[in-house]
Amino acid sequence: MPVTTLRGVGPKVADKLSRLRLRSVQDLLFHLPLRYQDRTRVVPIGSLQRGLEALVVGTIELTDAGYRGKRSLLCRISDGTGFLTLRFFHFSALQQQKLQRGRSVRAYGEVRFGPAGLEMTHPEYSVFEGEVEPEPESYLTAVYPTTEGLHQQSLRRLTEQALERYLEPLPEWLPPELLAELDMPSLRDALQEIHRPPDAATAELIIRGHHGGRERLAFEELLAHHLSLRRLRKQEQSHAAPTLASHGALLDALLAHLSFELTPAQRRVIGELRQDLRQPVPMQRLLQGDVGSGKTVVAAAATTCAVEAGYQVAVMAPTEILAEQHARNFAEWLVPLGVEVVTLLSRLNSKVRADALEALASARPVVAVGTHALFQEGVTFGDLGLLIIDEQHRFGVHQRLALREKGAHGNRRPHQLVMTATPIPRTLAQTVYADLDVSIIDELPPGRQTVETVALPAGRRVELVERIRSACLAGRQAYWVCPLIDESDHLQLQTATETQTQLQQALPELRISLVHGRMKPAARDEIMNDFKAGAVDLLVATTVVEVGVDVANASLMIIENTERLGLSQLHQLRGRVGRGAEQSSCVLLYQPPLSAQARDRIAAMRESNDGFEIARRDLEMRGPGELLGTRQTGIAHLRIADLVRDQKLLPRVQRIADLLLQRYPRHADAIIQRWVQQGEDYGNV
Ligand code: ADP
Ligand code: MG
Repeated sequence: MPVTTLRGVGPKVADKLSRLRLRSVQDLLFHLPLRYQDRTRVVPIGSLQRGLEALVVGTIELTDAGYRGKRSLLCRISDGTGFLTLRFFHFSALQQQKLQRGRSVRAYGEVRFGPAGLEMTHPEYSVFEGEVEPEPESYLTAVYPTTEGLHQQSLRRLTEQALERYLEPLPEWLPPELLAELDMPSLRDALQEIHRPPDAATAELIIRGHHGGRERLAFEELLAHHLSLRRLRKQEQSHAAPTLASHGALLDALLAHLSFELTPAQRRVIGELRQDLRQPVPMQRLLQGDVGSGKTVVAAAATTCAVEAGYQVAVMAPTEILAEQHARNFAEWLVPLGVEVVTLLSRLNSKVRADALEALASARPVVAVGTHALFQEGVTFGDLGLLIIDEQHRFGVHQRLALREKGAHGNRRPHQLVMTATPIPRTLAQTVYADLDVSIIDELPPGRQTVETVALPAGRRVELVERIRSACLAGRQAYWVCPLIDESDHLQLQTATETQTQLQQALPELRISLVHGRMKPAARDEIMNDFKAGAVDLLVATTVVEVGVDVANASLMIIENTERLGLSQLHQLRGRVGRGAEQSSCVLLYQPPLSAQARDRIAAMRESNDGFEIARRDLEMRGPGELLGTRQTGIAHLRIADLVRDQKLLPRVQRIADLLLQRYPRHADAIIQRWVQQGEDYGNV
């Protein structure tokens, strides 16, 4: 039912409401108050404190238009327990006349401390003669989030109407037995109490997030998103997939050629993947593993299964640098086994590109490594069996599905593996990635040193010069990262260039290079390759190194402007060092004074080297929207629930989802319909 069914809502008001994303009466009911005002009880003036918002009743002792400083009308009232001044900067003669000595006043406002003691500025008030004192209100007054030109009063009147006329008919989709099991109130009771709490204690619970009614709504919202992802998953599973039942000969050959032993965690995950790949339905799996935990070789292992079964594999990375690194690794690991590996980047010359396209269009079991270029127009896959996406947090659900569609083959879809270095707690992952199964690599390869992490104010950068000198003269390499906060910001780039110049002056014996995002990819690759080859000692970089460059000999990481980076980002950067056997260090430079948040982040970095722990704290500090990436909007943009605050609800969300799907599938659909605006929330592909 559109908001226009409410009295007093014409096109103009509807337009304002739509800015708050309130389009239906139901939206209005789910538009929860930010806070409450208590007009249910009259507070004795003598017990008022500054900062408090309160309802008072008193007798006018004196009303006086003063002209000291600013012209104002002062009205002094008392109720026998104390005095309070009502102050008005704008007033009419009529107002002044009405506030006559001896009359009574009821006023609501915030108490401040003024020249004449406690006062309220421009309170809401009404004047009455002794006996007709109006009743205090029976509910607390809600204060709603609003937008320009839409008065709090109007919103209140609209929700009042919505509650009176549409709360009763609002369907309850959680059956009584499930509600009883959950020990949660009905939807109606929940909404009624949240919009109109009977007392301050209830309001307090709601605001603090401990109110059963609020939890009920949060629960239903999380349930809706979870169900919607499950439905997506089911739709996906209605497709067929090639059964990649390889004997594992190619996998064995790969493992035999590696210069290291797989960790038990890697082996376990490869087992999980092989199990999925054997099924005739598309695998949809998320692989979580800390930076440096060795996800790439696991992806290569899965690749061998597809290739051995005669299918093509596409490996997609978010940046060119990372795509090239993967291409090199895959080529190094697989070409000696007789596997054809091609690269597809946006900037390849037309011959190389044409060859790669030809290979992909053929039915040969090629492995293609690349960026988005893999899925651009003009690329056709002969027979794609497996699609691997690295750093998945940059893609939303629907992007993921769109990629898979491009690899469609009749009713058949490729298996899909997505990998992320920003792990989130398992129950959370199972909710927000309910369309995916989750595998976790929970150990690092042996021999990794924990990276020693220190924080220094930017003023002490000079001290670092000696440290860099001795590390590099001892044959090791270092990164100096100057994060570009805004890629378009010239000044930031200038800073990076100046940093390089200054460092080169201070360290004439070292080979120092600069890489940044605005360089021509070929120039940037040349420098990266030099760095990898050890021909550059110190690499000054903007954040382009963030996403996964692997140089085991680098043992010192210096990060400038630490205070501007998120925790997960810092951890990713730090993960660039500590990859070899050398004791590595990470220096976090910051501009004092630090905000409390920045201080917490630095403390977290110093206290933990564990990506899961870091991600957990990042989640607490910044919330899931940031952590999961802005495009992962579907479940990050919740109306009522908060993935951090409401984490304890998640196990119940999964359980009730199961029950609902089994016993009340139509209710499940209705719940999705109610909360998830398909297309809008999941963003454009
Ligand atoms: P990430 O999980 O961050 O993508 P990578 O796959 O880039 O990590 O692996 C980091 C480095 O560790 C690479 O040089 C890789 O070859 C190496 N590596 C992976 N697995 C092992 C292992 N089991 N033992 C030793 N080194 C390993
Ligand atoms: Mg990686």
